[in-house]
Amino acid sequence: MARKFFVGGNFKANGSLKSIQAIVDNLNNAKLDPNVEVVISPPSLFLLPTAEKVSNNVKVAAQNVFDKPDGAWTGELTVKMLVDHGIEWVILGHSERRTIFKESSEFIADKTKAALDSGLSVILCIGETLEEREAGRTIDVCCSQLQAVVDKISDWSKVVIAYEPVWAIGTGKVATTEQAQDAHGALRKWLAEKISPEVAEATRILYGGSVNEKNCKDLATQPDIDGFLVGGASLKPAFVDIINANL
Ligand code: PEP
Repeated sequence: MARKFFVGGNFKANGSLKSIQAIVDNLNNAKLDPNVEVVISPPSLFLLPTAEKVSNNVKVAAQNVFDKPDGAWTGELTVKMLVDHGIEWVILGHSERRTIFKESSEFIADKTKAALDSGLSVILCIGETLEEREAGRTIDVCCSQLQAVVDKISDWSKVVIAYEPVWAIGTGKVATTEQAQDAHGALRKWLAEKISPEVAEATRILYGGSVNEKNCKDLATQPDIDGFLVGGASLKPAFVDIINANL
C-alpha cells in the first residue's frame, strides 16, 4: 500500500493565542490536498485551544511528553494527560531536545514506548550534526538513534520517522534533494534489515530542515521522502503550499 504523504508543523516555542488562531484560520479556510495527513504542533499551553479550533482534518501533536505515569515530575506532561485531552500525536527526539536538553536516545526510546503503549502516534526525529556528516557518519548516527527505539518497541504502525539533519534545522541550509533521498533510502534499507521489509515499506520517513514553499516540490518527488516536518515555515501562510507540494 502506498504511504500517505504526511506534513507536520512544529511551532517550537513560538506563538500567542492570536498568532496561532491566525495559523488555524488559514488552515481551516485553505483547500488542502486530501491525500496528505497534516499534524500541527503548538507549544503545550496552546494544545487545547488549537485542537478545539482546527478543522479540515488537521490533527494536533504535543512537542514532548514524559515517559512516567502521573506523579512528582514538576514541569512535565504525562502521556495520560495528552490522551485525556484527545491529543493523538507527539513529537519525540527533536534535535533541540537531544542537544539543548541533553535527552539520550534511550530516554527518547522510553518516551516513544510510553506514548505508543497509551495509543498515541509518534513523530520520531533523528538526524546528524554537521560534524558527524563531514566525518561520513550520517547513517551510523541516525541508525544508532533508531536502534535505541528498535530495542524497546515492536509495533511501528503508529510511528512516523522524521530525518532532520541538525545542520539544516532553522539554518536556511536545506539538504539537497540527492542528500535527502540518499539518507532516506539508506534508512529504509536499514529498517528492512533490522525490523522487516513490511515495516520498511509501510513506515513514512519525513524530511525536516529548512523546508519552504520553494524547495518542497523537488524534495517531494523523491521515492523515499514521504512528507516533511516543518519548523519556521509552518508559522507562515505558505505552510499550505508545503502541504500541497504534490498538487
Ligand atoms: C524543525 O524544527 O523540525 C525544523 C525542521 O525546523 P525548520 O523547518 O525551521 O528548519
